[in-house]
Amino acid sequence: MPHPLTEAAVARPCAICARFDDLGADGRPARLGIMGGTFDPIHIGHLSVAEQVREALGLDAVLFIPAGVPVFKRARRIAPAADRLAMCRLAVADNPFFDVSDIEIRRGGDTYTVDTLREMRAHYPDNVEFWFIIGADAVASISLWRESDAIAQLCKLAAVTRPGFQLDGATRAQVDEAGAFDVRYLQATALSVSSSDLRERLEHGQSIRYLTTDGVCDYIREKGLYGYAEGGKEDAEDVSRDAEGGPRCGCCR
Ligand code: ATP
Ligand code: MG
Repeated sequence: MPHPLTEAAVARPCAICARFDDLGADGRPARLGIMGGTFDPIHIGHLSVAEQVREALGLDAVLFIPAGVPVFKRARRIAPAADRLAMCRLAVADNPFFDVSDIEIRRGGDTYTVDTLREMRAHYPDNVEFWFIIGADAVASISLWRESDAIAQLCKLAAVTRPGFQLDGATRAQVDEAGAFDVRYLQATALSVSSSDLRERLEHGQSIRYLTTDGVCDYIREKGLYGYAEGGKEDAEDVSRDAEGGPRCGCCR
């Protein structure tokens, strides 16, 4: 017969995420990294940045939080939230320091980081310090984020380099103008990869292998995401076949 406490723990729905809901509950100081993004789809740039910041800042955990409806990306079609969430889960599963939270997706409506941070602050005790991890492209526009000055009170920023974007004095000045941010500027290994690039490759029936994890590649193939099945090479009459006779796709060639 299962121990009643174990049963209770299993039955308890998670508030923020499955692995780290209890972070800080023992009263010890803890540092939680927060990696926000659309993750459409998640790729090695996201994963390696999170890992490097975790190591550099001694974070206890990093949470990936896919946006529900990203306000700055309303103009283009994005993959269903459930798929972006599932891909994030697949991508982080083998890293014990990583987890995924669906709080922005569960909340529904437009996604504002300030709401997410408030929800997290209400859940975690004060001994848990939040570090919002952000790439050079996104940090440059932080002054446009809703209640950026409130965000500055809710978290510290880990601003990381990204190929093709400046993290220079001008960018830093923009961050200073957006609020009283406590920022650490970090140099990450340059990986010139983006979700846009992956989507484009898939649309053209090109491989994305090694640009994201194998599990994510498989998921995209199985679900026929990003127009590959409808707009890629499978539309052509002469569809090439893999060893099992199934159509080849950009992920598996
Ligand atoms: P898209 O091309 O659709 O905008 P993306 O690759 O920029 O996708 P996002 O989900 O928009 O991915 O980014 C989430 C966060 O990850 C942002 O803070 C972004 O700056 C950061 N990021 C994404 N890719 C990299 C990378 N290659 N190097 C450093 N930071 C990155
Ligand atoms: Mg982006």
